Amino acid sequence: MFDPSYIELDFDHLKSNREFLASLCKKPCELSMVVKGNAYGHGVREMVAMAAQCGVRHFSVYSADEAVEVFEAADSRPEIMIMGSIDNDAIGWAIHNNISIYIFDHERLERAINIAKGLKTKVRVHLELETGMNRTGMDQKGLNKALERVKANAEYVQLVGTCTHLAGAENRQNFERIRNQIKTFNALRQQFVQHQVDPGTIHTSCSAGLLNFPEYNFDRVRSGILHYGFWPNDQTREAFLQRTGLEQSPLKRVISWKSHIMAIQDVQQNEWIGYGETYRAPRNLRIAVVPVGYSHGFDRSLSNRGSVLVRGHSAPVAGIVNMNCISVDVTDCRGAAPGDEVVLIGKQGESEITVSSFSESLHVLNYELLTRLPRSIPRKIVNNGLPHSS
Ligand SMILES: *Cc1c(COP(=O)(O)O)cnc(C)c1O
Repeated sequence: MFDPSYIELDFDHLKSNREFLASLCKKPCELSMVVKGNAYGHGVREMVAMAAQCGVRHFSVYSADEAVEVFEAADSRPEIMIMGSIDNDAIGWAIHNNISIYIFDHERLERAINIAKGLKTKVRVHLELETGMNRTGMDQKGLNKALERVKANAEYVQLVGTCTHLAGAENRQNFERIRNQIKTFNALRQQFVQHQVDPGTIHTSCSAGLLNFPEYNFDRVRSGILHYGFWPNDQTREAFLQRTGLEQSPLKRVISWKSHIMAIQDVQQNEWIGYGETYRAPRNLRIAVVPVGYSHGFDRSLSNRGSVLVRGHSAPVAGIVNMNCISVDVTDCRGAAPGDEVVLIGKQGESEITVSSFSESLHVLNYELLTRLPRSIPRKIVNNGLPHSS
C-alpha cells in the first residue's frame, strides 16, 4: 500500500495468449505453462492463480522451491513438473504431493527409488534424454540402465514422461542442430520398444519449438515466454507473422510496471542534474522525480538513456539512476504534476515502453530483464472483471 511502485498483471491478456497457444498446440497435445524464475518475473503466486482461472492444469518449474510456490498458490490441484534441481528432502515432498520430477542420471534415479521405497509408494518420473544440448540427460547407455532399473522397481517408480530440451530453437542458425536432436531422440526411443516400457508423455518443445517446429510437439509442449506475451526473439516473431500472413502480433503483454511523480522542479539551462556531471540541462527544463531506482530493478545502465511515460509522452531519464529514485525530463509532458502516473514498462495512451526498449542497448534478453524484477514490488491483477485491488 505504501510501495513506491507496483506491477499490474492483465488477466484478459493472459487469457488471450493462452487461447492463442492452445490453437497452435492442438489436442491431444497438452500445454504446460512454465512458471520458473518467479513466473518470468511477473510473480508466481498471482500468475498461477490467474492461469488456473484460464484453465491451465499443468505447470513446469525448474527447482523444488519453485514447485512449493506453485503448490501453495493453486487452489485446485494442478500437475506440477520439476525440470531441474531437487534435493533428497524435496524428493519426499514431491512424492507425497504427486509432483513429477526429471531424472537425468543414475544417482538421482536410485535416490528417488529408495525414497519411494521408504514411503511405500511410487515416485513419478520423466526420463530426460541427452540429444545434443549437453546440459542434462541420459545417453544410450544411461537410458538402457535406467529402463532396467525402472522395470525392476515397478512398484516404486511410475514413468510418466520422456523428454529432452532443444538447444536454441528460436534461432535459424541452430535449426540443423535441432533436427539432429530430434533424430537422436527418436533413435533413443527405440530402447523403450526393446525393453517394452511405456515412455509416457513425450515432450521436447519450448515456445520456440512450438512455433518453429510444430511437427515436434509430440504429447506436451512446455511453453513459458509466450504465455506472458513475449516472443522468444524477433526472428521467431517475424517468421511466424510471415508464415501466417498476420499483420500484428497476436500476443498481448501481461505485465505493466507503474509508479508516480513524487516531486517536480524547474531547472535552469546549463545546470547539472543529479550526482556528478553526467547531464547538463540543454535548456530550461521541468524535472520530475520518480521514487524508483536500481534497488527496485530499474537498471543503473539506463542512466541518461532510458525513458518512462508521463501523460502519454516519453520522459527521458536525466542523469544517473539512483538507488531509490530517478529524475526524468517532463518538459514536453504538458501539465505533468506530482501524483501523476508514471509508466516504467507498459502502455499509457498511445505510447508504450516495451521491456526490450527498456534496455535496448544493454544486450539483455527479455527473459533476463523480466526475471530481474524484484519480488518485493507488489503485484495487482487487473481486467479480471473485479475492481482493482491494492
Ligand atoms: C525454460 C524452459 C522451457 C520454456 O522456455 P520458453 O522459451 O520460455 O518457452 C521449456 N523447457 C525447459 C526445460 C526449460 O528450462
